[in-house]
Amino acid sequence: MILKSLSWRIGLSFAAFVLIGSIALVFVIDRQVARENELRFAELARTNAAFLARAKLPPSPYLDESLEQVLGCRVDFVTTRSNSGNEHPVKPADGTVYRREGRESVSVRIDDTTALVLSREVAASWTALRQRTTLSILATFWLLSGVSGWLIGRGMVQPLKNLAAQLPRIESREPLALDVAQRKDEIGDVARAFVATRRALQEERDSRERAEKLAVLGRMTTALAHEIQNPVAAIAMHAQLWKRDAGDQRESSVAERIELESRRIDDLLSQWLFLARPEPPASSSLSIAALVEQCIEATRAGLDHARVAVTFTADDAARVRGDAKRLSQVFRNLIVNAIQAMPRGGQLDIAVRSLASDGIVAVTIADTGVGFSETALARFAEFFFTEREGGMGIGLSVASEIVRAHGGELRVHNLPSGGACVMIELPHEGIERGIDAPRNA
Ligand code: ADP
Repeated sequence: MILKSLSWRIGLSFAAFVLIGSIALVFVIDRQVARENELRFAELARTNAAFLARAKLPPSPYLDESLEQVLGCRVDFVTTRSNSGNEHPVKPADGTVYRREGRESVSVRIDDTTALVLSREVAASWTALRQRTTLSILATFWLLSGVSGWLIGRGMVQPLKNLAAQLPRIESREPLALDVAQRKDEIGDVARAFVATRRALQEERDSRERAEKLAVLGRMTTALAHEIQNPVAAIAMHAQLWKRDAGDQRESSVAERIELESRRIDDLLSQWLFLARPEPPASSSLSIAALVEQCIEATRAGLDHARVAVTFTADDAARVRGDAKRLSQVFRNLIVNAIQAMPRGGQLDIAVRSLASDGIVAVTIADTGVGFSETALARFAEFFFTEREGGMGIGLSVASEIVRAHGGELRVHNLPSGGACVMIELPHEGIERGIDAPRNA
């Protein structure tokens, strides 16, 4: 349990370090002191041997005794040559200290035949421990270790504790008390990473909450769209009947207006339902020329109202397999967009071509309006992108989704004369499209 705490682990490791360090320190000091004692002992022997050689004092028991009292160790005079005249082999008289049976001795030559031998008991180990210098070195080591331990604890353990205390607040929105994030070291990095993760989590939670709200709103709107669609269709149908039986011009134009506006509402609802629940398109053989012509007729009232003249060139061979309702939606959206781009009237050129050699059917819808802005050219296919006041930004995006669902492509560009041009390419029915087939724009 104790070892689970970082402070205890650091503390115990530190204590072990201090203990081992102290033992090593005392050992080194002890060895040093012993070495110095040996050197001093050898020096003592050399000095005394030199003195005896100069004074030419003959060895005697009296001299032995006096020297032992002065030097505090055993003193012997030994003959360095054996009876045969050879150098004595046992004790070297070269002033080096040697140890034997718990005693250390040093022997130094006085003259040709005699050597002075000093010997004493070897000092006990760890005697350095009793010396004041050793104790002060140890005390300084402990003091420095204590200060470093305290600094490490304060600089590492405390900030980590502070950080750990803040971790449970990762979910809360209250400001964090995290001064360690200011640090430039690794602990600061961890703290900054924590702050960044918390911010990312909060942003993610915010956007999830927003998405959940939007999803609820989406479900409500879809249900509402379903409910509204039937009455709107009924209004459009009755307006059409009323227009047919209208007594005068004024009545007829009111009925026409009602029909137009109800069809617009119906279009919007269909698009919304397509966005909310895109179902796979139905598939039947379609003449694109006929479909586009129907769309022109369906929007005729709007075109006339906006004083937009239409030219329509069609190739009857242009056939595709697809969903008539959805493709009509595409063409109606594009015609309505063109009308909106020409509020003071203009020219709308619609062409349907069958490019059988490329395996495609191409429809171009070109107007003489203001043309696409730079942003619209780049973002026209994004849902809810709009630059029009009161616009919803779903006309072009839904159109391009429907075309893509038919295996085709919708592209936009501006004409050199300034108007906008939308190009739709759909796979030609019954003709395999070559992968690298060049396209005639
Ligand atoms: P909305 O019409 O509701 O804005 P759309 O998706 O139909 O949504 O169009 C998105 C934007 O593309 C429009 O706001 C407009 O800026 C631009 N746009 C679409 N059609 C044309 C066009 N024929 N001429 C110029 N700009 C157009």
